[in-house]
Amino acid sequence: MIRVLAVASEIYPLLKTGGLGDVVGALPLALMRAGPAGTASSVASSAKPSAPVAAASVMADAPTFKTNPAVDVTTMIPGYPAVLAALTDAIAVHQFADLFGGPATVLRANAASLELLVLDAPHLYARAGSPYLGADGREWADNGMRFAALGAAAAAIGRGVVPGLTFDIVHAHDWQAAMAVVYLHFHNGPRPGTVITIHNMAFQGRYPAALFPRLGLPASAFSLNGLEFHGDVNFLKGGLSYADRITTVSPGYAREITGVEHGMGLDGVLRHHSGILTGILNGIDDTVWNPATDLLLPARYSRGKMGKRADNKLALQQQMGLEENPDALLIGVISRLTSQKGLDMLLDRLDTLAGDGLQLALLGSGEPELEQAFVAAAEWHLGSVGCVIGYDETVAHLIQAGSDALLVPSRFEPCGLTQLYALRYGSVPVVSRVGGLADSVIDANEAALAAGVATGIQLWPATPEALQIALDRLQTLWRDKPAWAQVQRNGMAADVSWRRPAAQYVALYRSLLVAHS
Ligand code: ADP
Repeated sequence: MIRVLAVASEIYPLLKTGGLGDVVGALPLALMRAGPAGTASSVASSAKPSAPVAAASVMADAPTFKTNPAVDVTTMIPGYPAVLAALTDAIAVHQFADLFGGPATVLRANAASLELLVLDAPHLYARAGSPYLGADGREWADNGMRFAALGAAAAAIGRGVVPGLTFDIVHAHDWQAAMAVVYLHFHNGPRPGTVITIHNMAFQGRYPAALFPRLGLPASAFSLNGLEFHGDVNFLKGGLSYADRITTVSPGYAREITGVEHGMGLDGVLRHHSGILTGILNGIDDTVWNPATDLLLPARYSRGKMGKRADNKLALQQQMGLEENPDALLIGVISRLTSQKGLDMLLDRLDTLAGDGLQLALLGSGEPELEQAFVAAAEWHLGSVGCVIGYDETVAHLIQAGSDALLVPSRFEPCGLTQLYALRYGSVPVVSRVGGLADSVIDANEAALAAGVATGIQLWPATPEALQIALDRLQTLWRDKPAWAQVQRNGMAADVSWRRPAAQYVALYRSLLVAHS
């Protein structure tokens, strides 16, 4: 059995600000189900890339190998108030007398079927609200110290400072965990293998050089081949520079980030390390996202029993103040409102959209200008445009189940989860042809329609004009009811489960063990 210490700043259902939390929460359980010890590679090679298999049947059929899994994951996360509040059976397993300015305790606990190590360091994490931002909406001034501490503590645990708690691999997720890789690299003596997964290159953890002396690393770490980035300290760059393996959350994004357009300044580093870089598409957690069992929905349905889906559309129209019309093509959006997500382009098209009789139901939060613009649009296009500004899991589920199509017009998208949920829920995804969006949605072009394999619509490039063309194509498809039903049903049958990705992670871990042995 391979013992993995995952390190991350978010884990669903305890704490989530985006897709990172979903993935960190779902992957341990998916790995647990990936197969018994010793058969993981055969699982990997027997995975059928082209066979669409309904995720529900896969998950229902999949035996759980809790007693003898191929991989056992323990996840280390900061002790934010929401995390500590969710623990019931925590025991202290290690103390740091002084972890970057104060005492800290590592708590071992189980919550939501997850094995956790929680870094309880009140001077760093006992703060209300967002894990990253103060009440003024600005980053906490000591974020560099807060996430260096997470890395340092995880590196110590990964090296086995706690008797009886040893790990073969430390798997760091995103910049908040990247320093674990750096501290392990500079430790003298045996260490576990290291993997870093990039969930979004846009977030790197970049701080002034003045932070470096406080990190307790040798001077050589602050170099072109290490943490140094244009004179600053860059945590993600450190992780990428020193990890044994680098992954990102789709094959498409793995290619894109080695280029200038999507590399966010680190494309050179990634080209240098391209031999250890792979893309593994995310899956979805079928216990949370399954329309047949989803208790957050007014009505449950499945691919074979679609009748009740209309009840969700009506409930969504009511909740969003939209005209109660079953025939109106209702487009959903669930998103952070930032320029990455391309929703400014949608604002540009709203007059036409409403004029064509389409409806929009948007759930989002983020940049104040975008929030205000959608609120104003909902007032202006009363009955056609509705929005909820904020973060709301129940509304997110209702949009997936009640919308006819789900729009994700991102300028870049490492994987994207909302389009995967949309496939599962029978909302036809309309996505930009970038990153994981391109990897997960089959465009309804003539060949795909003729072959009966289309699952959505792709738009390219990410411009208002291309968005309009995609919306026009969507309306044409909507009017062709048999074709629409086929695309919808194809999407619902697509394998968006963790089955294939989990097998790929197991194979990756195995390759690392072989390299280390
Ligand atoms: P990102 O991680 O870049 O925000 P993803 O598509 O990978 O984008 O993941 C977004 C996750 O966050 C999904 O689970 C989505 O349902 C959820 N989400 C995004 N915005 C909201 C919101 N306003 N309310 C509830 N859930 C949201």
